[in-house]
Amino acid sequence: MAKKPSESPVTMLGKLRAQHPDAHCELDHDGPFQLLCATVMSAQTTDVAVNAITPALFARFPDARSMAKAEPRELEDLINRIGMFRQKSKNLVGLAQKLVAEHGGKVPDRLDALVALPGVGRKTANVVLGVAFGKPEGVVVDTHVQRLSQRLGWTKEQEPVKIEQDLVRALPRDQWDIASHTLIFHGRRVCFARKPNCEGCSVKAECPSAFEAELVGRKPARSRAPAVQAAKTTASKKPAAPKKAAKRVKAPRVKG
Ligand code: SF4
Repeated sequence: MAKKPSESPVTMLGKLRAQHPDAHCELDHDGPFQLLCATVMSAQTTDVAVNAITPALFARFPDARSMAKAEPRELEDLINRIGMFRQKSKNLVGLAQKLVAEHGGKVPDRLDALVALPGVGRKTANVVLGVAFGKPEGVVVDTHVQRLSQRLGWTKEQEPVKIEQDLVRALPRDQWDIASHTLIFHGRRVCFARKPNCEGCSVKAECPSAFEAELVGRKPARSRAPAVQAAKTTASKKPAAPKKAAKRVKAPRVKG
């Protein structure tokens, strides 16, 4: 677990923003509807993969009204290079139909209305609220924001919802959106999950994990992997030795 940082999150975020002045949402889009669709599709896949398929998708279905009339199968043909494309196709058509039926074909700028759409959770809703409308209701916590927040000592939590609560307490509201983009940029370019480039980091003097970050902020399964593996190895070896020895050596020695 990370120790306390020597500077406030606001000060550290300022330094990170200076290092990544171009930090922004890296999903290509034109308007709230395309951003919403791209964000829904980005679950469990990369922005690069989504950006590779959205030009053809949005050329055919540029808005909610056109997509609402489509069959999910038509979308499947266009997005089948990303994971869960069948479910995502269904969600996209479903959310487009709901936008047409309940919001005049427009993307609402309220959290409650957004999370009522198929395939839209709090994270996706906050991406749309922050990027498209400039009024996020929280900080988007993806895998990079989670790892960085832990390494920087801004949270001791493991769950994204609790991490978000710590971040909204630590940062002023007008920085919630840019904080997320900046941490994601930093996570993709400097503070990698494996082998973070602490030498090239603008907050290495303040970061409590500097030069020893490999095991901080990693996903639980991965971060525990060496320990788990060691435990398994030990466990599998321990019983084996006594069993073999028991027949020939152990019994007479113990009882004697
Ligand atoms: S790169 Fe190193 S110093 Fe910078 S935030 Fe990550 S762990 Fe801390």
